[in-house]
Amino acid sequence: MRRFFNGEERNPHAGLDFAVPAGTPIKTPANGKVILVGDYFFNGRTVFVDHGQGFISMFCHMSKIDTQVGQQLRRGDVVGRVGSTGRATGPHMHWNVSLNDARVDPAIFIGAFQP
Ligand SMILES: [Zn+2]
Repeated sequence: MRRFFNGEERNPHAGLDFAVPAGTPIKTPANGKVILVGDYFFNGRTVFVDHGQGFISMFCHMSKIDTQVGQQLRRGDVVGRVGSTGRATGPHMHWNVSLNDARVDPAIFIGAFQP
């Protein structure tokens, strides 16, 4: 899956980009637990949420992280704010989903999948 918003990005780009203004709250799409938080070269400030049953979300390029490892989240809780940290050319919310370690197109889960 390759998508390009804001002139991004490396290749292949597994995930969905939402071009929204910096500071926009990022809400978790499902209940889960924060399993990892970090600041990475490519992904910038990133939060990993384990939703259970092998379903893990990764939110990248945040300007601010509002959660910490071990925190239990309910659907709609804010995990952080949109930013452009890491290798991003502009503010956007980057959402990756993996199911049992395989990358899956997040669009499937929000009814936006188009083959
Ligand atoms: Zn991205």
